[in-house]
Parts: sequence; C-alpha cells; structure tokens
Amino acid sequence: MNTYNRFPLRLERGSGCWVWDQDGRRFLDAVAGIATCCLGHSDRAMRRALSRQLGRLQHVSNLYNIPEQEELARWIVQHSCGDSVFFCNSGAEANEAAIKLARKHGHLRRGIERPVILTAAASFHGRTLAAVTATGQPKYHRGFEPVVDGFDYFPYNDLDAFQSLLEQHEANGPAVAAVLIEPLQGEGGVNPGDKTFFRELRRLCDANEILLILDEVQVGMGRTGSWWGYQQLDIEPDAFSLAKGLGGGHAVGALVVRGDADVFEPGDHASTFGGNPFACRAGLTVAREIERRNLLRNVQERGTQLQEGLNGLVSRYPHLFLGVRGWGLLQGLVLRPDCGVTAPDLAAAAIDHQLLLVAAGPNVLRMVPPLIISAREVRLLLKRLDAICRTTSPT
Ligand code: PLP
Repeated sequence: MNTYNRFPLRLERGSGCWVWDQDGRRFLDAVAGIATCCLGHSDRAMRRALSRQLGRLQHVSNLYNIPEQEELARWIVQHSCGDSVFFCNSGAEANEAAIKLARKHGHLRRGIERPVILTAAASFHGRTLAAVTATGQPKYHRGFEPVVDGFDYFPYNDLDAFQSLLEQHEANGPAVAAVLIEPLQGEGGVNPGDKTFFRELRRLCDANEILLILDEVQVGMGRTGSWWGYQQLDIEPDAFSLAKGLGGGHAVGALVVRGDADVFEPGDHASTFGGNPFACRAGLTVAREIERRNLLRNVQERGTQLQEGLNGLVSRYPHLFLGVRGWGLLQGLVLRPDCGVTAPDLAAAAIDHQLLLVAAGPNVLRMVPPLIISAREVRLLLKRLDAICRTTSPT
C-alpha cells in the first residue's frame, strides 16, 4: 500500500555498517534500520546463532515454556531495574502492553474508573491506535479520529506545565494512571530528557502512585552508551518498553516491569509470535555480542567522536545549522528553520554521496549508525556529510 515515501534505492546486501544496492553501489549506513541493526548487517555471530536456531526450533506458542524466552527475560532482568518481561514483536505493541498495564494498575491500585495516561508533546510511541494516540503529534492523529480516550499531553521537559496538568486531572480525586515518556525523544527531533525534570517526574509519580513508564524503544539496548536511556537520567522507571535494537533487525519487542507494578494475570494479554525461540535467540545474541565486544564503550567513544565532528560542521556551516544534540550513537544535527533546506532534503542529497541518513522531523538530521561503527567509519561519515553541506546551496 502507499504508506511510505521511499528513497529511490533498492538495497540487496549488507555487511557491517555498509549496504549495497542493486547496481552494486555501496552506502555507509547511518540509519541502521532506524536505530535497529545494532550489530550492523549480516553479522557473523547473528548468522551463526540464528542459522543454528532455525535448525532446532523456530516457533511454538506461548502455550508452552520457551527456554530462549526465559533466558532473554533473565538477561534483561539481570541488567535492568525490571523484574518481569512480556514479549511481543514491535515498539507499538510493547507500548500497547504498557497502556493496558497502566489502565489495569490505575483501576486496581488507585480505584480509577476512567484512567488517564499523560504523554509528552512531540513524542512518538508507534502507529497502532492507542500508541498513536499516546504520540503527542496531532499530524499522526489526523484522519484517524476518533482517537482513543484517556490521553492528555504536556510539553516535554516542562515541569510547571506537567504539574498543572496533573493537578487539573487530579482535582476531583485520582484520575491519572501513568506517565508514558521517552528518555530522549527520537522521532520528535532528538530531544534529550532533562535530569531535573525526570527526577521531579519520578518524585511526583511516587507521591501519587502513578506509574512512570519509559519508552526505550529507540534508546534501549545500548544506543546511548548505557544499556538503558533511563541510566542517562539517573532515575528508574516502573516499566519500560523495548523493540528496535533488542532484536538487532529481527522483530522482537518487550515490556519490562518492576515488582508490584506487574498486575497482569494469565489471560490479560498475549501475542502469537511474541517471544518465540527465533526472536529470542536474536535478542540473546545481540545482548551477548554487545557485552563480548564491549560495544557500550564503543558507543561512548564513537558517540563523542561523532558529536565533536558534528559540532565542527555547525561551526563551518553556521548558515545551515543551529547545533547538535543527542546521546551516544543517537545524534541530531539541528537545521536552521530558515536555511532553505530541510532535513529530508539533506537525507535525500546524502544518497548521491553514498551515505544513508534519516530525518527526525523537518529540521533535524538524525544519525543512528550500528553500534559497531569504527573510528574510521565515523570519519568517513563526517567527510561525506561535509561534502553534502558544501554542495547543498539553499534556495
Ligand atoms: N517508540 C519509539 C520511541 C519509537 O522510536 C518507535 C519507532 O520509531 C516506536 C515506539 C514504534 O516502534 P515500532 O515501529 O516497532 O512499532
């Protein structure tokens, strides 16, 4: 169906941080399936582990215990603040699970009849009906009304606005079940969370028995240089959603929940494919390879290198750029709104320079390369970006 504006490229092969099109042209991939292929393309460990898994067992059903699922859940729990995991297939689906959990928690623990979930403006939580309603961007709602009841929005990182929205909803008693929020807004323009804001958010949620649920779909699994985005903010959520990097290019999503926030019982929620042996083998391989190759360190070092290089571009092309923001290997180059080119224009121009880039809204060019990217590849990325800036003359 006609749901995507696609670049004029047909990609058919990949290796590491590189992909080739049908004409044999080689591209440096700073998109990585939009922050997904963290081990790059056609990774040897992934190929081996998944081929072996295909030869053993691919899919059964959650009617049975699945050892690979238990092992991946154990890994996640041991490396995070979570205590239990529900597996699904995508970010939107993980957030749907979070929304259902929040509503049930609100009914049970706060006695709320019609629970409200507060989310941030400019957020992105996925395209299913509830996840898109949670997404605080009206452009994604348009045409699909009526959207789902029980959501309201506050400006990201704005404590006063959050507090007054909370007070407004709670004026006549408990009404808010949860806050669902990204530690760093990815799609909405690479906006990092503010530590003070998140600390206060945590305090207000604790004081009112409101669940703080973080959407870690884009930032989780090491993208920011720590396993989870919430570690950059020095807080711990009650639950967090994962997808993208978790499967390194395979469809795996998860909702991770802490202690007694887990109010699900058998029959409350399910997914046919969620957590099957193949998907969980992919997740386990990603987790173990990130550990074995010390990729968190690589993300920190290459992230700093990338950010410094991008800052250099900002100084060289002040007519194009306002600045750089991001954590680790999720960086956004912010364009001047009046510079005459948009981020999608630059991402399109990058194709001629054999570089893959993706926009995050009209004014932010996003870089989310595989976590394995080398220092030489970061230099090449910056060199190609510089060439794009040189040849891009604003109209
Ligand atoms: N949440 C965040 C923060 C995302 O960045 C995305 C996708 O970009 C989603 C949720 C939706 O994930 P999916 O496309 O896997 O449904």
